Amino acid sequence: MRFVQGSHTPNLASTVAAVALAQLISAVDASTKLEDQTSQNESGSCKQTKVAILGAGITGIITARTLTDANVDDFIIVEYKDEIGGRVHHEDFGRDKDGEPLLVEYGANWIQGLGGNGNPENPIWTLEKKWKIKNTPSDFEAILTYNESGEVDFTSEIEAFEDAVEILTADAEELRVDNIQDRTFRQGLSLAGWNPGRRKYPQAADAVEWWLYDGEQAYTPDESSMVFNAAVSNFTFEQFSAENNFVVDQRGHNTWIKGEASEFLKKDDPRLMLSTIVDKIAYSDKGVKVTNKDGSCIEADYAVVTFSLGVLQQDVVSFEPLLPEWKNVAIEAFLMGTYTKMFFQFNETWWPKDKEFFLYADPIQRGWYPIWQSLDKEGFFPDSHAIFVTVTGRESRRVERMADAEVQEEALEVLRAMFPDVDVPVPTGFQYPRWGTTPWAYGSFSCWPAGTTLEQHQNLRANVDRLWFAGEHTSASFFGYMQGAYLEGVDVGNRLAGLVNGECLKAVAEKHGEGGCDEMTRYEVLHGTTEEDEYNIENGWNNLELETERIKGNAK
Ligand SMILES: Cc1cc2nc3c(=O)[nH]c(=O)nc-3n(C[C@H](O)[C@H](O)[C@H](O)COP(=O)(O)OP(=O)(O)OC[C@H]3O[C@@H](n4cnc5c(N)ncnc54)[C@H](O)[C@@H]3O)c2cc1C
Repeated sequence: MRFVQGSHTPNLASTVAAVALAQLISAVDASTKLEDQTSQNESGSCKQTKVAILGAGITGIITARTLTDANVDDFIIVEYKDEIGGRVHHEDFGRDKDGEPLLVEYGANWIQGLGGNGNPENPIWTLEKKWKIKNTPSDFEAILTYNESGEVDFTSEIEAFEDAVEILTADAEELRVDNIQDRTFRQGLSLAGWNPGRRKYPQAADAVEWWLYDGEQAYTPDESSMVFNAAVSNFTFEQFSAENNFVVDQRGHNTWIKGEASEFLKKDDPRLMLSTIVDKIAYSDKGVKVTNKDGSCIEADYAVVTFSLGVLQQDVVSFEPLLPEWKNVAIEAFLMGTYTKMFFQFNETWWPKDKEFFLYADPIQRGWYPIWQSLDKEGFFPDSHAIFVTVTGRESRRVERMADAEVQEEALEVLRAMFPDVDVPVPTGFQYPRWGTTPWAYGSFSCWPAGTTLEQHQNLRANVDRLWFAGEHTSASFFGYMQGAYLEGVDVGNRLAGLVNGECLKAVAEKHGEGGCDEMTRYEVLHGTTEEDEYNIENGWNNLELETERIKGNAK
């Protein structure tokens, strides 16, 4: 969900293309069954490569693609899971109308900010179209609102909140450009005239605020940065567009990532090591040695760690030597949010069939089973009798520690309150992920706390000797979104290709000078604020431009 809303026409998969893609993808999947699953050769030494890419989510795969484009084929990708895609992750749930398992997305579900029509197109939207990923517009205006006594119309609060966000956004831009101390998003809202406690119906205001803020950032306005969370929203929803399409592809949303991989990885390609857990990373200014849990190892000239911020914060992978203080401070400085979708299936659809969203204002607890989204709609999964509710932050942590049956009962109580005239049945299916404890993610996506700076964030991005870091969380302008992960893969791939080839890629150098090449800038002394001229490609600010000039075969 988001600050701004919109709609778009659906883009549906063609069967022919789907079959061709399935063949390509099974070729990539087959590389899991490599005969040589270890990277150690028989004499016990490590596999040698130029670049070790750690993680096969969007960033890892796009780093590899960018290297390939620059004629660097000597890389190895190491991935914990048994498939490509990372947090673009799905599971089977219940049954579809033909009795087959329904595939639901536990992770990234919306293509956010499609763009085009005079604006730049979101590169993710371009790729979703390329791989014919089935999706449908989310209609944020198809909403009904409820409280503990049933349906009650408080949709006017949505407009009031959006008006305040508009004022906040202008204020945030002034703070940013004039390099004035950041505030919490809450301070920004209050100064813009939005204070839920002082509104006529505080619980309704809380519900709307939760939907349009926490439901997007997975953190509360009290915890997060006014300047940078306003900017990240602008980059996606103003620079591209306000449209959000929901992916319903039964091949899985990660089909586009597998598709991209299939263009440079051949069947059984030994450069993709799935089901392999990185345990230890030893690095220096000469190279990197990666040791995996199965005892195998890789020696590389360079390595790029694309693990989530959550994985880095959990200390589950050890570094030798320990990461320097400036890097550890940056890792701890940023927030890893948790966003939990809980899926329910019933024997029948007993809620209004013409609406997509149902927003609940709990009388006591903000963010208590607040937003329900019907999947039983044209364009989604008609006749699936499925609906899901989303919680974030503290509520995510709470439900992750509870048994499924307890959570189901709490949620059903909310539905009974929302629909007093319905005898709400027991669901035939109920399931949800526990992102906070998933060992390859430890959370859902990152967010910026109030009071941080671009310099602090640049330290999260910066390489330490030959060890590089990239992912959704290293994106200054698109953190939390697939486009952030994508653009960081392009950026780090370009830089590493330049280093491996001994020369900055021509097109990057021509367009961005040294700012887009070479090692990353880092700030061992933090200045506490961000000067206007620091908002540049070197510090990862709006690196969309790197993609608009996708560099093909331009290594020299
Ligand atoms: C619940 C949820 C909802 C989301 N909704 C949206 C949305 O609607 N729209 C949107 O644009 N974005 C959304 N996102 C964010 C989006 O999914 C991410 O920004 C993006 O997928 C991150 O890609 P990445 O490559 O940076 O990281 P990842 O996808 O996390 O890739 C890192 C890879 O490293 C692997 N790894 C981790 N540890 C190890 C190890 N020790 N050894 C080997 N491999 C390891 C992981 O398995 C993973 O495959 C959502 C995410 C979640 C979780």
